Amino acid sequence: MQSPKDESTLNPQFITQFEDYLKSCGLRLTQKRLDILNQVFDYPGHFQTEDLLVQMRRNGYLVSRPTIYRTLPLLVKSGLLTEFIDAQKNTRYESIHSLQEHAHLICLRCNQIVEFKEPRIDALQKAVCEAHQFKPVRFRNEIIGHCAECQAELEPKTTEANDEPTA
Ligand SMILES: [Zn+2]
Ligand SMILES: [Zn+2]
Repeated sequence: MQSPKDESTLNPQFITQFEDYLKSCGLRLTQKRLDILNQVFDYPGHFQTEDLLVQMRRNGYLVSRPTIYRTLPLLVKSGLLTEFIDAQKNTRYESIHSLQEHAHLICLRCNQIVEFKEPRIDALQKAVCEAHQFKPVRFRNEIIGHCAECQAELEPKTTEANDEPTA
C-alpha cells in the first residue's frame, strides 16, 4: 500500500484546511485522503469523479472508486473543491486555486462550459458580504442557458420570420 512520491506543489494551507475540517467531523487526514487532495489540485480544469479515478490510476495510485466517491464531498464541505451540476446533470468538480474565482456559463443543449471572470461581479459580491458581515469561503456563479451555436440551431428563423409576409 504505497503511494507514489508526489512532487506536488500543493499549498500547505490547503492541507491544514482539509485536516481541520476532517477533525471537526472526527475524521483523520489519512494518506489516501491526502493523495486525493493532491490529485484534485493536479487536475487541470473540471472533472467528474471517474475522470479523477482514471488520472489517479494512471499516476500509479492504489485508490478505490468508493474512497474517491466518499472523499470528494468532504473536500467540497471543507471549501477546497467546488461542485456544480452540468447540463446533463452530472456532478463536476473543480479545485479552488487561491481565491481566484471564475463563473460558468453552462449550455443546456451541448453541455459546453465557458468560464468567465468579471471583476464587477466579484466587487459586488464582496460588497454584499461586507454589508451582511458575512465571511465568504467561496463563490459559485453559474448561468445556465443556451450557447450561441445552440440558439442558432434551436431557433434558425426567428429573426427572418418577422420580415416574411404571412401567406
Ligand atoms: Zn450549446
Ligand atoms: Zn471552471
